[in-house]
Amino acid sequence: MRKIEHIGIAVKDLEKSEELFSKLLGVNSYKRELVPSENVSTSFFRTGPNKIELVASSSEESPINKFIRNKGEGIHHIAFAVGDIKSEMERLEQEGFTLLNKEPKKGADNKLICFVHPKSSNGVLIELCQEISTH
Ligand code: ZN
Repeated sequence: MRKIEHIGIAVKDLEKSEELFSKLLGVNSYKRELVPSENVSTSFFRTGPNKIELVASSSEESPINKFIRNKGEGIHHIAFAVGDIKSEMERLEQEGFTLLNKEPKKGADNKLICFVHPKSSNGVLIELCQEISTH
């Protein structure tokens, strides 16, 4: 894996948390995006080379609702940038990790994504993401 691409934070109220994180980081969110495949709405902040993604549920069935019910708001996942998501998924599966989806899916911020079940990674939800090339 190349680097941490972003850190995802589960929040109840996207607008309130956007305000809070703008104050905290001293920058405004540069992008808001609805991700229908995950039932979430997201908001992205950049601090230097790093990115923070606020994630709120956009519908009842959203996994974020369940997360917040069980654990409250807070760090939800760590996302790593990968060059080739399919070969990385294969590698992790062979290493015994449980992938939450069999095929990469379209995530926020022009990425193909796949999640690794937190049960197989010390309680940390891991997201793999590969930039979708625009050429
Ligand atoms: Zn993410």
